[in-house]
Amino acid sequence: MSYFTKYKRIHAFLAAFLVAAILLLSGLFIVTHAEHECIGEHCSVCAEIEACVFTICLLTEAVGAGAVVIFAYIVVLKLLSSYLAGLYLCPVSLVSLKIRLDD
Ligand SMILES: [Zn+2]
Repeated sequence: MSYFTKYKRIHAFLAAFLVAAILLLSGLFIVTHAEHECIGEHCSVCAEIEACVFTICLLTEAVGAGAVVIFAYIVVLKLLSSYLAGLYLCPVSLVSLKIRLDD
């Protein structure tokens, strides 16, 4: 395993872990503080809940868009490879293979 590949995997794992932790902790904060004694305007808990909801929406949209882009990339890559493989195939016939049908 090369030096670059090793650190690329570590960075990908850290990014996935951080996204999962942020989603989990934001959801946990919303659930635990959903029923708080609200002081009304300028409530710090309500502001934090609003920030958590915004963060969850932002991350889910980003992860969804990333998943769509990766899926489209894989599909295009597979289609291109199958199309290019078809270009290099030679048409095969009994005459080109020099097979005699004597019977
Ligand atoms: Zn409040």
